[in-house]
Amino acid sequence: MLNQQQDNTKFRAVQKKNAFYHYPIPYRPLRQPSKRRFSVDFDLSKHQEMIRKEVRRFAETEIAPVAADLDETETFSSELTRKMGDIGLFGMFVPENYGGQELDYLSYIIAVEEIARVDGSQAATIAAGNSLGIGPIYYFGSEAQKKKYLPKLCTGKGLWGFGLTEPTAGSDAGGSKTTAVRDGNQWVINGSKIFITNAACELSLGVTVQAVTGRKPDGRNEYTCFLLEHGTPGFKAMPMHKKMMWRASNTAALYFDEVRIPKENILGRQGEGFHQMLQTLDGGRLSIGAMGLGGAQGAFETALKYAKKRVQFGKPISKFQAISFKLADAGVELECARNLLYKACWLKDHKRAFQKEAAMAKLYCSELMGRVADSAVQIHGGYGLMKEYNVERFYRDQKLLDIGEGTSEVQRLVISRYIGC
Ligand SMILES: Cc1cc2nc3c(=O)[nH]c(=O)nc-3n(C[C@H](O)[C@H](O)[C@H](O)COP(=O)(O)OP(=O)(O)OC[C@H]3O[C@@H](n4cnc5c(N)ncnc54)[C@H](O)[C@@H]3O)c2cc1C
Repeated sequence: MLNQQQDNTKFRAVQKKNAFYHYPIPYRPLRQPSKRRFSVDFDLSKHQEMIRKEVRRFAETEIAPVAADLDETETFSSELTRKMGDIGLFGMFVPENYGGQELDYLSYIIAVEEIARVDGSQAATIAAGNSLGIGPIYYFGSEAQKKKYLPKLCTGKGLWGFGLTEPTAGSDAGGSKTTAVRDGNQWVINGSKIFITNAACELSLGVTVQAVTGRKPDGRNEYTCFLLEHGTPGFKAMPMHKKMMWRASNTAALYFDEVRIPKENILGRQGEGFHQMLQTLDGGRLSIGAMGLGGAQGAFETALKYAKKRVQFGKPISKFQAISFKLADAGVELECARNLLYKACWLKDHKRAFQKEAAMAKLYCSELMGRVADSAVQIHGGYGLMKEYNVERFYRDQKLLDIGEGTSEVQRLVISRYIGC
C-alpha cells in the first residue's frame, strides 16, 4: 500500500515519462488537518476598536468645530497639534522606551483615517509627523539619535520634516541636486528643498535631508541622509502659502547655504540615503491611503445625511435612484478600499512584503476619495459649492493625495513592475 506522498511521486513519474498520457495527479484533501479551520479574521481587536472610537470622539469634539476656520485663514494650529500629541497620536508605532505608544501599524492607520474623516489638514500633520518625520529616525537612526529626538517628537510638542523633494526633482527623486561634502568632522550642505510638510512652524525641530555625497561605481549619484536641526546657521525654512488644499497644514521651502553639521548627524551609513527614503515612502503610502479612505468616508457620510434631508419633487433626494446609486457605489468602494488598506497594514505588521499592496492602497484610496468627494458635491447641488457646507473641503483636500508621496502615475509604474509588466 503506497502512502499519499509515494503515490504522488509515482503518478508524477508516469506523467513525466509520457506527457500525452493523462494519468491524474490526485487532488489534495481540502479539509485542514489542524483544528484551526478559519485563519482569516476580519475583526479588529478590541484595542483597535477603542482607538477608532476615541480618535473619532477627539476629531469630532476638538477638530470639527475649528477645521473650516483654520482652512479659511490658512492657519497651522500648534495648540491642536499639541492636543493631538496629548492623546498619543504621535509615535503610535514607536516603542515605549523612545516615548511612543508601541502599537501596531494598523492602529496608527485607523487613527489617521479617523482624523481624515473630519479634516485633511490635521490628518496631514499626523501622517507626515509619524510616517515621514518620526519614521526615518526610528527605522534608521542610531541609538543616540533615537534617544535624542524621538521622545520629543512622540509628544507632538516637536515636529520633524522629510526633505526629499526639490524644485527640479519631484517624481524623479534620484535627480536631487542638494549636496553634502565632508570637511573634517563635519558635513557641509548646500541646496534646497520644496513642499516639505511640518518643516516651518513654531513646533518644527528639524528635517531629514537627502543629499548627494558622491558617485557610485556605475556613475549614478550616491545619496546620504542627514538630520538637520532648526537654528543651524545657513539653514532657512520658509512657510509656503496660498495652497488649494491642506490649508491648515504647514508646508515649507528649505534653503541650505554652507550649512555645517557634525558628522554624527548622518542617518545610518553613507550611501544608504536613497534606499532609506524609498523605504520611508512605502510606509508613508499607507498613511496617504488612510487619508483617502477617511476623507472618502467623511464625504460619503456628509452626502448621505444631506440626501436624506433635502426634499425635491416632494421626496428626499436619497429616494431618487440617480442619487442612491451614487451612494451605493461609494459604499461598495469604501468596503474594497478598507479591505485593501488594512491588508497592506496587516502584511507590514507581520513583517511581510507589503510594498505592492501599499502602492495599490495608496492609489485606490486616493482616487476613491476623488470619486466620492465629487459625488458628494454633486449630491449637494449648488450648496456643495459653498464653504459653509464643508463638503467642498473634502473635494479640495483630495487632490494632494493624487500627487504627494508618489503621484498616481508613479504608483501605477510601481504596481506595473510588481505585477510583472
Ligand atoms: C502640500 C504638499 C506637501 C508635500 N510634502 C512633502 C514632504 O513632506 N516631503 C517631500 O519630500 N515632498 C513633499 N511633497 C512633494 C510631493 O511628494 C511631490 O509634489 C510629488 O512627489 C510630485 O513631484 P512634483 O510636484 O515635482 O511633480 P513632477 O514629478 O514634476 O510630476 C509632474 C507630472 O508628471 C508626471 N510624471 C512624472 N514622472 C513620470 C513618469 N515617469 N511617468 C509618468 N508620469 C510621470 C507626474 O505623475 C505628474 O503628473 C509635498 C507636496 C505638496 C504639494
